[in-house]
Amino acid sequence: MADEIRKNLYRIVVPLPNSPLKDLNSYVIKGENRNLIIDTGFNRSVCYEAMLKGLAELEMDLNKTDFMLTHMHADHTGLVTRLASETSRIFFSRIDARVFDDDQSWQSLVDFAQINGFPADELQKALASHPGFKYSPKQKPVFTLLDDGDVIECGGYRLQCIATPGHTQGHICLYEKDRKIFVSGDHILFDITPHIESWAYTTNSLADYMASLDKVYHLPVDLVLPGHRGFLGNLKSRIDELKIHHRERADEVMDVLGSETLHAYDIAAGMTWDIDCETWEDFPIAQKWFATGEAIAHLRYLEGEGRISRNAKQEIVTFRAVLN
Ligand SMILES: [Zn+2]
Repeated sequence: MADEIRKNLYRIVVPLPNSPLKDLNSYVIKGENRNLIIDTGFNRSVCYEAMLKGLAELEMDLNKTDFMLTHMHADHTGLVTRLASETSRIFFSRIDARVFDDDQSWQSLVDFAQINGFPADELQKALASHPGFKYSPKQKPVFTLLDDGDVIECGGYRLQCIATPGHTQGHICLYEKDRKIFVSGDHILFDITPHIESWAYTTNSLADYMASLDKVYHLPVDLVLPGHRGFLGNLKSRIDELKIHHRERADEVMDVLGSETLHAYDIAAGMTWDIDCETWEDFPIAQKWFATGEAIAHLRYLEGEGRISRNAKQEIVTFRAVLN
């Protein structure tokens, strides 16, 4: 079903079955000559049917439609090659586009999970159940690459790209200055906390994320359009909450570490997670994977702050608190 948000601006709610995210918000702008679809849903039939139904309601001509994808995750990019026509431009972050160039990216994630204590015998199962592995576009889309500050115009809207690394390294939000509308992708969500993960120690995604929250804090905004769930909320107060949340999570990691030397997978198992499972062992494998990635992001952040040290000179990377 499609609902109207503002003149020429609509939302199609795309279900994401079995995902804790529940659904994805695809935003649609109808223009005189070209339309724009922002984010698309997983590459699976239940999402495809919901999109086609919403687009039919809006009488959208896909031959006159371009796409903008806020970041590389499959719930945002999955359907783009099925929906795009020959004339469609697909606007996408230059930085996140690199993931689509790298055939080895899944293997390097698996290798990295292994050196962080993820059980070796569960790695293939974790990969097979990863939504990004299952529901990404089957062929590589042809992108029109975006950088910070680029502008996309459609239907009277002038959308300025704001690079907001953190949720992914190439994440892009869109800002409509005159209408004070902020399309936040997964940078800012109201009803759930954006997932911040890290699968390399060369990046510090949580530090990037915190800086990207600061980057958009002072934008005059009346309406935030997030990638998931509802959009009733205030930008500044939500950013304040998200920053507090991550500082508390970092403190929780310190508590889990205590005076021990632990690897990321065990630290993830010791943290609290908002999930309907009694014990860590009951977690679905994909959720163990996401939890480990999130623990690594917080560990890397704490390392950057000098609160913990990392020992990478062994088969499994471990951490311990720095004693003052
Ligand atoms: Zn995402």
